[in-house]
Amino acid sequence: MFKFCPSCGSNHIRFEEHKVFRCPDCGFVYYHNVASATGCIIDTGQAIVLLVRAKEPAKDKLDLPGGFVNPDEEAVMGLRRECQEELGWDPGSDCSFLGALPNTYPYKGIIYKTCDFFFTVSAPTLKESDFRLDPEEIKGVRFIKYREINIEDLAFDSTKRAVKAFLNTRIPESEE
Ligand SMILES: [Zn+2]
Repeated sequence: MFKFCPSCGSNHIRFEEHKVFRCPDCGFVYYHNVASATGCIIDTGQAIVLLVRAKEPAKDKLDLPGGFVNPDEEAVMGLRRECQEELGWDPGSDCSFLGALPNTYPYKGIIYKTCDFFFTVSAPTLKESDFRLDPEEIKGVRFIKYREINIEDLAFDSTKRAVKAFLNTRIPESEE
């Protein structure tokens, strides 16, 4: 990410342990720490809402609504903000924590390592016309029934794991 030390301009700067830049010439240290992000499994009781991504990374893949948490923001507030931005819809405060999973998010040549916080929200009466989509971010939404979800169509490793974990709580093993 840095070719030169931002402090002294040396080209000896090194990136170590996937997280820290160190300059041996002036002692500059910068931790490119794991970033927090959120993902929302909107559950109608038979299906979940998946978005078609309009931009890279993973353009045209299916994804959950969500995104990076802002500085000083509570994770659930970040989740609600992202849902409002992407879908024009607020999941409310009654979100259940599902789990936190690592992910890798390449964006414009920089690799971001994230910790993604997944929540589920129950929305039995939700329909597509309740959304006002942001076309910059999203090409469309799909309500996909539990058994018709193809994990490989999902955009990110963390999302795949979270949706699998969710489906395991909804589809009894004997019916799989
Ligand atoms: Zn330096």
